[in-house]
Amino acid sequence: MDDCRMPYLDADILCVVASWMFVLMRMIRQPSPHTLHKEEEERKFHALQSMTEKWKERLAEPTAGLRTVEAVRPVLEDWMDRRHGSLTFRLVQVLSGQGCFGKYLCRIAGREPTTRCHHCSCDVDTAQHTLEECPAWARQRRVLIAAVGPDLSLSAVVKAMVESDRSWKVVKSFCGEGEREILRPPYPQPEIRA
Ligand SMILES: [Zn+2]
Repeated sequence: MDDCRMPYLDADILCVVASWMFVLMRMIRQPSPHTLHKEEEERKFHALQSMTEKWKERLAEPTAGLRTVEAVRPVLEDWMDRRHGSLTFRLVQVLSGQGCFGKYLCRIAGREPTTRCHHCSCDVDTAQHTLEECPAWARQRRVLIAAVGPDLSLSAVVKAMVESDRSWKVVKSFCGEGEREILRPPYPQPEIRA
């Protein structure tokens, strides 16, 4: 694997594993009498606990993907234990910083020549820039702040999401409404001179 992709690995896996664990927790909480016996429930519960501990250990020393890891780690158990909130592709993009953001597209995906934002004069377009700063989403951001409060650091946003179904839905809506094309339009290419 290309080294430049490694910094995003923990964050990426974290999102996938956390959503998968959420499904498992639901199964355990609402076992079907036809599919889960008590011993089976206990076995799965302990396996889940063990996996949670391993993840907490791993996330204690993340190799990178720090933005996501630091935001989710303090609420990892509540995140997995919640009874609301689903992950969408666009929500995961904002949480992980991967996808349609200039910094990722330029430095990781190699699909754009610069890291700049297509919507304002910001030189480095990131997920956090979209959440906190980019004027293109000022209207949607007002709705977001009304739900989760003025602190739009990822840690504060994730905490609000985990604590409240309404906050989760508003953040998800922001990520959807603040929508960018996954495949951005072709970036203007510099003129090739003979
Ligand atoms: Zn911008």
